[in-house]
Amino acid sequence: MNETILTQADEKILDGVLENFAELAKIPRPSKHEAQVGKFLQKFFVERGLEVVRDKFNNVIAEIPASPGKENFPLTILQAHMDMVCVARDGVDFNPLRDPIKLIRDEKFLSADGTSLGADDGIGVAEILYLVDNRDAFTHGKIRAIFTVDEEQGMSGANGADEKFFTDASYMINCDSENFGEIVVGCAGTVHVTFSREVHYVRPDTKLFTNIAITVGNLRGGHSGEEISCGRINALKVAVQILKQIGRHGKIRLSSIAGGKAFNAIPNQAEFVISTDVPAADVEKICADIEHSLQKIFAATDPNIKIETRIVPRPEKVLHVKDGEFLISLMTLIHSGVYVMSPENHAEVFASANLGIVCMNDDCVELKILARANADELIFELMDSFEQAGRLCQFETKFSPPTPAWQFNAKSKLLKLAEKVFTEQNGHAPEVKTIHVGLETSSFAKKNPALDIISIGTTNENIHTPNERLHLDTVAPHVKFIAGLLEKIAESN
Ligand SMILES: [Zn+2]
Repeated sequence: MNETILTQADEKILDGVLENFAELAKIPRPSKHEAQVGKFLQKFFVERGLEVVRDKFNNVIAEIPASPGKENFPLTILQAHMDMVCVARDGVDFNPLRDPIKLIRDEKFLSADGTSLGADDGIGVAEILYLVDNRDAFTHGKIRAIFTVDEEQGMSGANGADEKFFTDASYMINCDSENFGEIVVGCAGTVHVTFSREVHYVRPDTKLFTNIAITVGNLRGGHSGEEISCGRINALKVAVQILKQIGRHGKIRLSSIAGGKAFNAIPNQAEFVISTDVPAADVEKICADIEHSLQKIFAATDPNIKIETRIVPRPEKVLHVKDGEFLISLMTLIHSGVYVMSPENHAEVFASANLGIVCMNDDCVELKILARANADELIFELMDSFEQAGRLCQFETKFSPPTPAWQFNAKSKLLKLAEKVFTEQNGHAPEVKTIHVGLETSSFAKKNPALDIISIGTTNENIHTPNERLHLDTVAPHVKFIAGLLEKIAESN
């Protein structure tokens, strides 16, 4: 009998996949610059006599015929994204539009010389190409390979791809997860919320004799999806806590406030300037007390939180009293942090919001929030609460079009098959989980709600950083997992 992919030596599979990966690494492919890699992928299929299209977004879609006798079995989509996050270590001369990724392979890992590696998601692409070239070494129904663009910067490829590529398929194996041994079965939808209010300034009253700048810093911050459940402090929430505490002792007028850098990052720094009739020594004591108690409560996550005060000259202007009060009220009312934990798994976050940015200029103050939920209903619930808070505080509230959640499907037939194949091949069950960040699968599930989807991958560490590395020992098992699953699908109709 011929060698099947399931009996091939792991080294042979690894070398084959890495050959494809090395070809990809030669082609610069940051998000929104995928024309060259798109052409490369198209050519790959043309050379093999397979039907392939490159759509107007530059997504590449190829058809792989079924093994003889399996033509009427359900169609399975294998999917990965062709773009990558390009970042370099400080001091490394790297132009992501021009320079190839230089690979370093040792016993255990593949990494890049001073830059991100692009195993996210180049290894998914390389594995699918390997499976296409070895399609006669395992039994399978019809396969469609879909390579999308721009996953890392807006998912315009997945969102734009024509529905027709998804509606005739039964199964999809998305190869964009980062831990071999995990099967991802759900992800979060998101909405970006922007509150804004026109503001007016006045000269500060001379009776407000204390003019002081207060800085909240030395916080860990973190990613608002992956790290929202880590119990870390939001610097803007601390700022509002300080403002309210000082406000209990006297009048305050806010001159400026700023904190946070991105919708999706927990703010690790905030600064504001006030004029107040509370003596400076009392303000300093309030700040020291809050710092001390937060250091104690958050000793495990943010033990080094620093709240610093600095006497400043009297500001030229301060916010009109109403503008300041409404701003502080809104910052207080907005929920920031975990909102609901998963009903299926109490260790997973189901809904959350992150007050990411507060910024102010001459005529406007803005607050920016990112909300996520693994069920669309909870996104709508959070949107309602934000709208109410905005209205009460007389802010204008704007929402981006919400991206849908990929909701866990307890009846997934593909998941059952995948659990069975993984356990047979690896001697232990995989971990099945939902994640609280976005994947392209949300978009695909929306195009075809009946499409049965899982997301899997090799183990890729430190993605989106120059320390990204691929665990080589997970490549062949992952390829065998996909091939075994395709065989199982072709038996199970
Ligand atoms: Zn990815």
